[in-house]
Amino acid sequence: MDAMEHGAESVTDFFGSQVFNDAVMRERLPKNVYRALRDMIEEGSSLEPALADVVANAIKDWAIEAGATHFCHWFQPMTGLTAEKHDSFISPTDDGRTIMEFSGKELIKGEPDASSFPSGGLRATFEARGYTAWDPTSPVFLKDDGNSRTLYIPCAFCSYTGEALDKKTPLLRSMEALNRQAFRVLKALGNGPVRRVHATVGSEQEYFLVDRRFVDKRMDIVLTGRTLLGAPAPKGQEMEDHYFGHIHERVASFMKEANCELWRLGVSAKTQHNEVAPGQYEIAPVFGTMNLACDHNQIVMETLQKVAMRHGFVCLLHEKPFEGVNGSGKHNNWSMVTDTGVNLLDPGSTPHENVVFLTFLFAVIRAVDRYAGLLRASVAGSGNDHRLGANEAPPAIVSVFLGEQLTDIVEQLEQGGARSSRKGEHLKLGASTLPPLPKDSTDRNRTSPFAFTGNKFEFRMVGSSQSIAGANFVQNTIVAESLREIADEVEGASDVEAAVQSLLQRYAKEHKRIIFNGDNYSEAWAAEAERRGLPDLRNTVDALAELMNSDHVELLERHGVLARHELAARHEIFMETYCKHIRIEARTMLQMVRRQVLPAAIRHSGRVAQAAVAVKNAGVENAAAGGELAQVCELTDQLREGLAELEKELAATEAIAGSPDRAAGYRDKVIPTMRAVRRAADCLEQIIDAELWTLPTYAEMLFLR
Ligand code: ADP
Ligand code: MG
Repeated sequence: MDAMEHGAESVTDFFGSQVFNDAVMRERLPKNVYRALRDMIEEGSSLEPALADVVANAIKDWAIEAGATHFCHWFQPMTGLTAEKHDSFISPTDDGRTIMEFSGKELIKGEPDASSFPSGGLRATFEARGYTAWDPTSPVFLKDDGNSRTLYIPCAFCSYTGEALDKKTPLLRSMEALNRQAFRVLKALGNGPVRRVHATVGSEQEYFLVDRRFVDKRMDIVLTGRTLLGAPAPKGQEMEDHYFGHIHERVASFMKEANCELWRLGVSAKTQHNEVAPGQYEIAPVFGTMNLACDHNQIVMETLQKVAMRHGFVCLLHEKPFEGVNGSGKHNNWSMVTDTGVNLLDPGSTPHENVVFLTFLFAVIRAVDRYAGLLRASVAGSGNDHRLGANEAPPAIVSVFLGEQLTDIVEQLEQGGARSSRKGEHLKLGASTLPPLPKDSTDRNRTSPFAFTGNKFEFRMVGSSQSIAGANFVQNTIVAESLREIADEVEGASDVEAAVQSLLQRYAKEHKRIIFNGDNYSEAWAAEAERRGLPDLRNTVDALAELMNSDHVELLERHGVLARHELAARHEIFMETYCKHIRIEARTMLQMVRRQVLPAAIRHSGRVAQAAVAVKNAGVENAAAGGELAQVCELTDQLREGLAELEKELAATEAIAGSPDRAAGYRDKVIPTMRAVRRAADCLEQIIDAELWTLPTYAEMLFLR
């Protein structure tokens, strides 16, 4: 890592150096082509084939000068990971040599054999063709893997009949929907110059680093990303000494290299720190336009994993790698910004700005209250079940944190208009000033799943391994729906301010039940939420059932985000994925217990038995050995019974037809049996001779680096 030396190269020089960004475009493209490309990016217009060829050629020259030999269409199939297929630029000539070629057609469209990506039945395998379509709103970039450098072209991935087979397509559609409806509302409120509204996202990524030498000996981590067995270490996170603590030297070196790599790719990695659990860390970029932020989060996840390997670590992105200490999430900071640079969730300083702010704020509150189930479904997954609804941040109940000051305003609006808390006089919205709105929310509730944090909402239920696209397209769409209703009501009104006032009053009444500023972990809240009628969907199977709720189908169809059959396909894919995850976990557990835990237990009992006999033969009473032996044998019996039970339940569940029923079987039969097996194995770990225990322990994995 030549350039990583201190002072060798300045970050301002190499930031974005591997991206065909706006500056490079302007430099390398003829003016008219540059303009046409900008229009395509900003307005979604299409590029004439001749111009596309010019763009492709400029990109190719830039890539080849930088040492690339291949290009790939880079897309995000329903696996939640990214996919790519590389082609070289070479085009052999008659005289046995080659030229390097790259056409507009190759830039714009690719045809990977799509038959092995999950499609939820949208594309029969005999109709394997799918195509990737260039997404010009996310710039192409050069990525290095080992010694090879490749041109990456961010793409959407669709079936030949145009159905979305990926994460990006609904995201782009939802951004359009949000733009459409936000534009209507702004126009009705009298915002002249605005032409577009973008969703913005900054996602904080949590992860664990574990020394590679331990991971190599843990089949569970290798195959499932988490530990399926393992007694708690004597020390956990109770000392609170890791959070924001001094960053270990080896970890700091890893972070530096990861940052440099991200910066070259134009990813604005900004903050990093130790997280709550030992061995847990976080990285967050500066927020940006949603689509790019999603692509960047994928790059962040890949880069962390890749660079970790170089430093002898394995980076775990799973939501719950270790029982008993915190799991990992991804806080999704979300807002809306106009092309004139106004953050619509930023409380303004003029009455008019405040009307806009409150309107958009209420649009979000209404959206979250009405579509809490859909929002919950958007983050469903077997890994996240260990966090949501399992005594960990945040709970499965969706609620909104507003802070005292804003909640006060909501309450005042409900009473018929906000009143300045200082002056005590009634105020009409927009007619004079509202009470000072919180500019910087110092009140930082850490337990809320959906918190207003000053000028954005932070959705904290997203799992650390998940693509953020799912949560974001849902968020865009549900807010677009509120905005649509607001626009419908306000557009024709003769007195817009009065119309907004009465609408907000109604919304305050109707939706204040979703607002909760207290401790989201408390049992009291669970009971209170139930009284308020808020859903508490504690596991993936229940959460996914929400997807096909007719309200949700209609919503996504109305805004052109997903057609019913596209949504049904996703429902099927997510259910299947859940089943597969649990099945792999169960099978992994069976193998590890049979081949590692059980043999250790039997050997240990043999040793203790021998020792007991030897001591007795020496003429000494040995109650200790007898007691130990009885305990080991009892636990070993429990373990064997558990294994037999798990094998039986697994076979029975695998045989269930229909993924929703099968998923319920995994949840209700297989997972509880796995828990019983784990309990016995973890007890054995705590009493078996350490020499005989082949699995790295929690203490080693969490504390040694
Ligand atoms: P904290 O850990 O206190 O939540 P961080 O600084 O780690 O705060 O993360 C906040 C994230 O929110 C950053 O990625 C930041 O860029 C992002 N963010 C800030 N403003 C906005 C906005 N208007 N829209 C979307 N994300 C934003
Ligand atoms: Mg945060």
